[in-house]
Amino acid sequence: MSKKNILVCNDDGFFSYGIQQLAEVASEFGNVIVIAPDRQQSAVGHAITIQTPLRANKVKMPNGMDAIAVTGTPADCVKLAHDKLLDIKPDLILSGINHGSNAGINMLYSGTVSAATEGAILGYPAIAVSCTTFDERPDMSGCQETARILIEKVFKHGLPQGTILNANIPAGPFKGIKWTRMAKSRYVEEYDGRIDPYNRPYYWMTGKFEILEDGDDLDVLAIEQGFASVTPVQYDLTDYALLKKLKED
Ligand code: MN
Repeated sequence: MSKKNILVCNDDGFFSYGIQQLAEVASEFGNVIVIAPDRQQSAVGHAITIQTPLRANKVKMPNGMDAIAVTGTPADCVKLAHDKLLDIKPDLILSGINHGSNAGINMLYSGTVSAATEGAILGYPAIAVSCTTFDERPDMSGCQETARILIEKVFKHGLPQGTILNANIPAGPFKGIKWTRMAKSRYVEEYDGRIDPYNRPYYWMTGKFEILEDGDDLDVLAIEQGFASVTPVQYDLTDYALLKKLKED
């Protein structure tokens, strides 16, 4: 395999444990460029910055690798990388390794997935990788092995235009991949309401994750069983079945 150029992004910030684990796997395949938010940007979804300027600063990750820290969202990082910061066209965009699951409806809130999606919008093959524990330094060996397998697969076969791979893997050693679909799910009992020292109410999101369907091909189920879940995801939100019906009426 010829040496590849791989852009690595995330939503937890350039200093997170997970992005270093992913950058190290990427470096097995070629030249790695890390361009990531300068601060925690989890659950910003596909937000972009339009009211303030963006800055991009050269930094070192805790593992000593070079990175560029952007004062924006994950989608900003990929857009800015594509338009201004890179003098080469990356062969692949990787996002992660996120600390926390991006399976089920989390996919929609996720900054990690959105960095990959932005890559796909700009025409690059892209993979999002998340570890389903929020620990600061979990055993990400299974996540890394999953990333390796998916990187090889994508370099060999490519991805359809507009589709990314969303991988969610439990902490611990690799137990195999299950190809899955996004489980219909949502959060319930979302906010903890409290009273501040000045006697004003405030609300803090806590939320219980609820799965709304059964099925042996669900992403959340594969994770529960200890497997790496990989879902192909597309950003075309059109409901084609209803579109057809509306036209026929
Ligand atoms: Mn995150």
